[in-house]
This record gives sequence, structure tokens and C-alpha cells, in this order.
Amino acid sequence: MLLIICGFLSHAKKDVLYYHKAGISSQPVVSALFLPEMPSNFQMRPGTSTIFNLAYFTGITTNITLGSHMTDIKNLRIHFYGVQGSGSIFPSRAERQVTQLHSDLQLLQRVFDDLGEHVDADGKLSVSLEDVIGGSPDRDTLTRYRNSLDLEEQRSYGGWTTCCRIETSDGYDIVIDCGSGFRVCAGDIVDKWTDTEDRHLYILGTHAHYDHTEGFDQAAVCFDPKNNIHILANRTYLRSLDQNLGIFSHYIDMNLKGVQTPLTYELMPARFDSCEIRDLQKDPAPADPDPMIGRYHDVNEPIELGQTSIQPIEVFHPNPCLAYRIEHNGKVFIFCTDHELRWGDDPDDPLQIASEEAEQRLIQQSMNADLMYRDGQFLRIEYDGQQGIGTPIGVSRKGWGHSCIEDVMEMAIQCNVAHTMIGHHDPNRTWSERSWIDEILVRKSQQTGLKLELARAETVIDL
Ligand SMILES: [Zn+2]
Ligand SMILES: [Zn+2]
Repeated sequence: MLLIICGFLSHAKKDVLYYHKAGISSQPVVSALFLPEMPSNFQMRPGTSTIFNLAYFTGITTNITLGSHMTDIKNLRIHFYGVQGSGSIFPSRAERQVTQLHSDLQLLQRVFDDLGEHVDADGKLSVSLEDVIGGSPDRDTLTRYRNSLDLEEQRSYGGWTTCCRIETSDGYDIVIDCGSGFRVCAGDIVDKWTDTEDRHLYILGTHAHYDHTEGFDQAAVCFDPKNNIHILANRTYLRSLDQNLGIFSHYIDMNLKGVQTPLTYELMPARFDSCEIRDLQKDPAPADPDPMIGRYHDVNEPIELGQTSIQPIEVFHPNPCLAYRIEHNGKVFIFCTDHELRWGDDPDDPLQIASEEAEQRLIQQSMNADLMYRDGQFLRIEYDGQQGIGTPIGVSRKGWGHSCIEDVMEMAIQCNVAHTMIGHHDPNRTWSERSWIDEILVRKSQQTGLKLELARAETVIDL
């Protein structure tokens, strides 16, 4: 059976035809295998077109919007592609069933409320069902009717690991971290760049852990020679990319080649350059050139990209980690993943001192910020090991490099941050727990007048 399928696929591959639409995509994307199923005016394309593709295959073609990215950018547009800590997660079957039940009940409630408005004194419908839904119950009419009911979108807290994209009003594309969310993010960037010749992407790395780098070699932006990818990060972040892929030095140790990924710089035709963010006052750049490093930037100085000023902040994590304060036309966004406000018993412990000093730097940079994304992986009771996450057995989280939700809340209030999104969610936290923590944050928001919430992937915020 397998042989028959392979035979069929190899035959289909012989007469592959590519399907284009001028001005939409220059890339061949659909093979002849699918063409007989396609209407003549349908196109598939990468990136944001997923919504079109989904629309075609589900037959739902009305009331689909492209989201806020179609409007002009006032200052900064911030897209959260991945807010998950440590590993990507998606809801279990049981969690999907609960979510489905919740949304079905909400829909039924709205339909019955609507029907109730057309009931006469005897409790009978005074109009036809067609009048209620606006036509015969075909797919388009039912879709329009369903969309007219103003249903709440179901919350989802999981998804990909860390990746945040910032578009600026003066045309810069900046990405922070390349967790598994970067694959999706890169699709959107490729889509945006279709008609652009001068293509530059600035990637700010926070630290080398896998959940902040794992999406890099799956990202479409890395495979087009027209793309210039400038990566600014500390040394360990740059090294983690270079030692596996050789994208900066064009060298890979034979013991590492092919171990973590089958790809190398030879198979990734985009142009890559590196800038090491380093404390040049304490640790000057070496006299001999380093083949991995294109240039150096002092961590104490802001990085200027057009009208955007980006200040790196050294935070506290087992692997050296940077947060970023991003300012554009007076609007301030703080991005701080993987930082631990440590709860230790000994105030003279160097780790305790380092953690508190990092927290103070962060507080200083975050005063009156418009938006802050911050790592809050644990509740305090979990950090102390009195309660497990997803299991009954608690284990101390001291030294794991992540902060407590309660501390982030307190810091956000102290800094008068208008909107705080708490992310880097623990992969073992259940969907329902995330939901109730979010409810608590919403209630806290109502008391303080400052918006606090759990971060959700696919959120887009304009500042
Ligand atoms: Zn992380
Ligand atoms: Zn980390």
C-alpha cells in the first residue's frame, strides 16, 4: 500500500505546475496534485494567507478580516507570536472539548435570546426562521447570522515558545527571540516583503536557551538571498546560532555538525550579520577579530534604529539574559522574558544580590511604561515548592530563572505600567488554571486601573 502511495506521489511530482496570482505571491506554492480541486480565482500563499486557505477549505468566505496589520502603524505595532515558556503546548482533547462546550452553550444562549425577541404573546414565533437568520439556512447565511451574534472569542494561553515582533511607524521590522513562534512570524514577514527589494530584519536575542532559539532554522526569512538578517544579542545567543549553523563564522565543528539540525549556513542563503551586545566598560572587545562577531555594542548604550531607541537591560537568569526597553515617539514597551526575582534566605548571597540588582535595573527602566511583557512562570506557592504545577508534588523553583506572578503584579503597580502581559507560561500549567489566574488578574486590574493579564499568543497591540 505504501509503495502505491509513493508511486502515485512520484508520478504527480513529474508534472508539477505552479499556481501564481500576480502581485500576491511570487512563489510557486501549489502543485498540480491539488489544482483540480481549486477554483480558478483561488490562490494559496504563505504567511497571513493561512486565513484565506482555511476559508477555502472550510467553505466559509464571509466576514473574515485580516486583522489590525492592514491599518497604518501609529508608533509601534507589537505582535506576540509565542508566549509559552520552556516548550510549545496545545490543549488536550479534554480541554478542547470543554472549550467547545463553552462556546456551543454561548452560541445556543445567544440564538435563544434572539429568537425570544420574535415571540408573540402566546410564546410562538411571529416571524419565519428565514427572517430571523436573514435567508435560507445555507452556509453563507448561517455564517453571517453567527457572526452577527457578537460571540466572545475563546481564550487560549498556550502555543509557541517566545517570539515577539515589532513593526515601527518608520518601517523597521524587529523581532525579539526566535522560539518556535518565529516560524509563524517569519511567514508574515515574508508575506509583507513580497514587493520589497530592500529587506532588513533586526533580531534582538535575549538568551541562548532552546525555547528562545528553536524556531530559527524553520523560518522562511532565512532561505531567501534577498533577505538581510541582522542579529543583535549577547555572546551566548550568537554562539548558540553559530555553533550549530555557522551563519556568522561559516564554520561548524565537525562534532556538532548535523547533531541538532540538518541545516547549515550553506543551505540558508539569507545574509546574516551579528552584533554582540556586551558590557564594553567592564569587558572590552578583544584586540583580535572574532570570526563570529561582526561588531560590538555597549550594553549601557541604546541601540538606535530610525526613530526607535532600544535599551538592553541585563536581568537575572542562569544563562546571561537581556531584557529590552523599546521607545518610539514617547511610547515605551518593556520586553522582559526569563528573569528571576529570587526569594533566598541569605541577603548576602551573591546570587540574591545579583537578582535584586537586576530587578532594580528593570524597575528603573519600566517606570510609566505603556506596555510590559514579563516572565511570570510560577505562583509564589509553587516557587516555594509547597505546590506542584500539573502534579501534586511540589518542588522548589529557586534558581530556575523565572519570576512569580504575584511579584510581577506588584512590580507593575509600583512602576505604574499601563498594560502588563504576564507570559513564559509553565508548560505543565493546565488550561483551566490559566483561565482562573487570568480572571484574578482582571479583577486586580479593576482595583488598580492598570491593565494586567496573562499573555496570549496571536495578540497584536498598537501603541
Ligand atoms: Zn525561556
Ligand atoms: Zn531561559
